[in-house]
Amino acid sequence: MKKPIHIAEYLWLDGAKPTQQLRSKTRLIPGETGSVDLDFFPQWSFDGSSTFQAQGGDSDLLLQPVSYYPDPTRGEGHFLVMCEVLNPDGSPHESNTRARLRQLMEKGGKDVEAWIGYEQEYTLYQGRIPLGWPDFGYPAPQGPFYCSVGSEVAFGRDLAETHLAACLEAGLFIYGLNAEVMPGQWEFQIGYRGDDSEVADPLTCSDQLWVARWLIQRICEEDGVTASFDCKPVKGDWNGAGLHTNFSTKEMRTKGSGMAAIEKAMTNLEKRHMDHIKVYGAGLSERLTGAHETSPIDEFTWGIADRGRSIRIPRPVANNGYGYLEDRRPGANADPYQISTELLRSICEL
Ligand code: ADP
Ligand code: MN
Ligand code: MN
Ligand code: MN
Repeated sequence: MKKPIHIAEYLWLDGAKPTQQLRSKTRLIPGETGSVDLDFFPQWSFDGSSTFQAQGGDSDLLLQPVSYYPDPTRGEGHFLVMCEVLNPDGSPHESNTRARLRQLMEKGGKDVEAWIGYEQEYTLYQGRIPLGWPDFGYPAPQGPFYCSVGSEVAFGRDLAETHLAACLEAGLFIYGLNAEVMPGQWEFQIGYRGDDSEVADPLTCSDQLWVARWLIQRICEEDGVTASFDCKPVKGDWNGAGLHTNFSTKEMRTKGSGMAAIEKAMTNLEKRHMDHIKVYGAGLSERLTGAHETSPIDEFTWGIADRGRSIRIPRPVANNGYGYLEDRRPGANADPYQISTELLRSICEL
């Protein structure tokens, strides 16, 4: 009997500088349904000279599957496969930021039982103009667009909704979505949802965020729209786009000791502020100005319920005395593997 064919889309990060981009290619894999696990997906290779990852003379790099998801774009029996890029000898390629997070998880990162929630902001473009913007000039000033409803203020909801459905079908920990402050800008969140049976650890959530990014870009292709992760898409008096990262350890979530652990985290984060800024996205200085709900790039500050600080402790967390913190510094184009790596290094002194 002929085996059924599964279509697998292999995703990986290229070597583009200053911002790594997603690449993917398709492979058809014969196999029995029901027998699918990670080993089902073979190691594969690609031309690294076309992705800023190798020279032409010796260009084959390896794709090592690390997690897989039902593919909502192709349907039942097909998969999205997240991969790490390896050198021909099997060692992690220098562009492989996931490997560094994976190693840190093994070196103590797992023991602290960290949970993550990423808030991914993005901007939809039709050609060179954000969705909903006039061909010439500017829309009305910011104010009515955040969490808005109505076609004169919310632009691109069909795409945000299609993306939500796709994330659900892929089994991602999608937490919510909303229209953002700048017209044409949206946000979705991936991470801890209050269900302790979902392991929202840094590696899992970072893989899922890359898959969710791939999905929004892929879905937008259908309409000839572009989803941009630029962290300051329109200069001037317009909100930038961030990747707020919510983080907790088991200690921070514990009644009684939680707030002390959160305050200790602040002290640790302050010491390594610039190490974080270095990997929090290209063009970050244009976004972290001190205006538009940000804190200036060269200062570390924190506060309760204050959206003008580097780190915010949400009001309910302060009231309860335990919970999580929100790092508001990362730009929308930052690499979640590197954000999580720096947070674990600083907060957990790894
Ligand atoms: P904001 O008020 O900043 O817009 P959102 O409602 O967009 O916040 O997102 C809240 C985020 O907090 C979600 O990504 C969620 O996964 C995350 N979160 C909630 N509880 C925790 C926790 N204990 N640890 C880590 N992240 C958490
Ligand atoms: Mn949010
Ligand atoms: Mn937001
Ligand atoms: Mn936020």
